[in-house]
Amino acid sequence: MSKIFFLLCVAIVAFTGCNEQKKIDALKQENAKLEATADSLKALIAKAHGETSKWLVKNDTVRAGDGLFQVLYRMNINEKERGKIVIALQDSVELAALRVGQVFYAALDSAGDVQRFRYAPNPATVHMLSKTDSGFAYSRIDKPVTVRQSAFEGSLEVGSTLNGILYKVGIPGRMIGKVSGILQCKVAFQLARPGDKFRILLEEKFYQDSIWISGKVLYAEFNGHTVGHHEAFRYEDPDPKSTFNAHYTEKGEALIYEGLRYPLDRLHITSPYGTRVHPITGRTTVHHGIDYGSPKGSPVYAVAAGVVTVSGYDDLSGNKIAIRHRDNSESWYMHLSVRGVNVGAKVAPRQVIGKVGSTGRSTGPHLHLGFKDAKRNWINPARKTMIATPKLEGNRLARLKKQVADIRKELELTLAAPAVKANDSTDVLVRMRVLK
Ligand SMILES: [Zn+2]
Repeated sequence: MSKIFFLLCVAIVAFTGCNEQKKIDALKQENAKLEATADSLKALIAKAHGETSKWLVKNDTVRAGDGLFQVLYRMNINEKERGKIVIALQDSVELAALRVGQVFYAALDSAGDVQRFRYAPNPATVHMLSKTDSGFAYSRIDKPVTVRQSAFEGSLEVGSTLNGILYKVGIPGRMIGKVSGILQCKVAFQLARPGDKFRILLEEKFYQDSIWISGKVLYAEFNGHTVGHHEAFRYEDPDPKSTFNAHYTEKGEALIYEGLRYPLDRLHITSPYGTRVHPITGRTTVHHGIDYGSPKGSPVYAVAAGVVTVSGYDDLSGNKIAIRHRDNSESWYMHLSVRGVNVGAKVAPRQVIGKVGSTGRSTGPHLHLGFKDAKRNWINPARKTMIATPKLEGNRLARLKKQVADIRKELELTLAAPAVKANDSTDVLVRMRVLK
């Protein structure tokens, strides 16, 4: 196994002198060496030289509903340092995807300033911040992982569910939901018949050969008597955080559609979309949205992932936020008491973006939810149920074609690999190949 450390450059480099850069390089090298063997910042500090032994090491664990700010707050890290840490991590770490139980470590000097900060989303990936004269230097340490591909073939049987049959051919339980989700995007299973065939190719990463890190479905094929032949391929952009990373047909049509989430915890419609007598002006107007009654201060959620295009105030709408989604539609949230996101921010589905209020022209606390289509016309939010992933085009389509050819080759190789037992508790044999 080769030891590869991906040390990412930081923006600081452009603004600091040569000495500072040397210091940053030295810090990164030190971190990389230590992190190759040490599993916590405590071990790192213990191994470090005299001065650092005076540092106080704190840690805290992600709880349900936490963001990084909440964790840092509980660790008693001062406000100035909290802001710097979030800025230093936000481009490299998916801060919206923190999981309960993950642990953050911070080493503080005698003045209470953070000297080191460590976050490991899984045992093989460590994000480190080291204090420099101008802020924090970021480094990422990727510990060696084993990558395994496994291939599965089977056919539907009388009296067996899809998940049951996927399990029977040896697909690990942790991947069954993903596989069946992809198949159900294209295949109308109420029309599937016993004897219909499927083939699946998985790629999974393990740390120290046994600790599961991540897995993806590279390929799923279904060949049915009535439902026809369908194939899905995993596409990867060079940017691992790209929203285009998903499953597509060979022609680049997306298989995954994102359903809209609710903007509030409780939906109580006080005024629907369409023509109405306006409660304040008394005139007949078209109401370009849906009003939901809700107490002041209730959290307002993004109905789907997207980028904030408007976060501002006007006399009619009060505090308003607009989010542009992948299919170029826009959801609008009005009369808010609090706006929680700025223009340009990326938001996740169901992320809190603000609080219900009664700002602007409003008779009481409520959320006005509006929706614009890709041509910027208001549409009825109740009729908008899905955000479609666009078709891949241009460079992306060319990249998909190349990846499709690679996946087909890998499927052949893995199907020809020796069969091994799927796991200790079953006799099911699986075709498996270790890539590295
Ligand atoms: Zn309204």
